[in-house]
Amino acid sequence: MLHNYTETAVLQLLNEVLKNYDGSLCTCERCRQDIIALALNNLPPRYIVTDTGEIITQVSFNHFGGRAQVIAQIVKAVETVAKNPRH
Ligand SMILES: [Zn+2]
Repeated sequence: MLHNYTETAVLQLLNEVLKNYDGSLCTCERCRQDIIALALNNLPPRYIVTDTGEIITQVSFNHFGGRAQVIAQIVKAVETVAKNPRH
């Protein structure tokens, strides 16, 4: 099964980033999806092959090596959506 590691990384780090914005940001499902889409479009995909049914919940950043890069893109996406919410 093909899996985009970057997606797991963004989903995992998004909550961490959003903690720093307590209350000052809309975190409805629509805005979260917009943030995720923006961040993923600005990050290179990292495809890995997993066994069928295996769910990846933990990203090994030692292996992935892109934690700072992912956080930077999420922060950028959060700020773009905060300035311009689409609802
Ligand atoms: Zn919203």
